[in-house]
Amino acid sequence: MDPSCLFCKIAARQVPAKIVLESERVIAFEDRDPQAPTHVLLIPREHVPSSLHVTAANHAVVGELVELASRVARERGFAEDGYRLVFNTNRAAGQTVFHLHLHLLGGRSFGWPPG
Ligand code: 5GP
Ligand code: ZN
Repeated sequence: MDPSCLFCKIAARQVPAKIVLESERVIAFEDRDPQAPTHVLLIPREHVPSSLHVTAANHAVVGELVELASRVARERGFAEDGYRLVFNTNRAAGQTVFHLHLHLLGGRSFGWPPG
């Protein structure tokens, strides 16, 4: 854990969040500023700063982020309709929290190309 990291603190339950699901390696919670009817963030419990830091050592947890996001999409009833998964990485993509997080956005239609 990085003691200065907001999402490490959420994973450690030191900062409150609306938890959606938890596994041994992953925790998912509602984004505090939702951009769609569902906007859930899925994070590894382990501190990984961004997608640039994914290596063979964390392939399994990154796969689990995707699997659990799909589970939430199914449970909330928009899996067949469609949804968006996003890893913002560094400044040009607008990353603001430097603990790897997968955005699950669903419940509406999304434009392409993204803004
Ligand atoms: P990024 O821009 O880094 O890809 O996404 C960070 C996300 O974290 C944003 O969508 C923002 O709304 C969300 N966020 C930032 N601080 C908090 C917080 O304290 N609690 C929760 N639940 N979400 C947060
Ligand atoms: Zn962290």
